Amino acid sequence: MSTTHDPTSGGGVYRVDGALDRMPEWDPVTSEHLWVVSSIYRVNPVKAVEAAAVGDGVLLDRENLLMVTPVFCMHCEKPCTGRNVADPCEGDPRR
Ligand SMILES: [Zn+2]
Repeated sequence: MSTTHDPTSGGGVYRVDGALDRMPEWDPVTSEHLWVVSSIYRVNPVKAVEAAAVGDGVLLDRENLLMVTPVFCMHCEKPCTGRNVADPCEGDPRR
């Protein structure tokens, strides 16, 4: 992922160059939660395909940001309540 600043927008502009997946596996030994927030962006599929064809990423900025979720654990999918931060993570609830 690369980050550039666009002076015409209200904030930073983020580009994801190619596929990005750095999600760590749940570790049953440490049982640590992976606290995250998730952002959802609206993209134009035609422009996204065209950008990928020339090696560009999809533009992610405030203009196409639709939603940012509350903090939750990526492994067990439980919301962070503040009281459960130190609790052990039980991993994927579907396994
Ligand atoms: Zn968890």
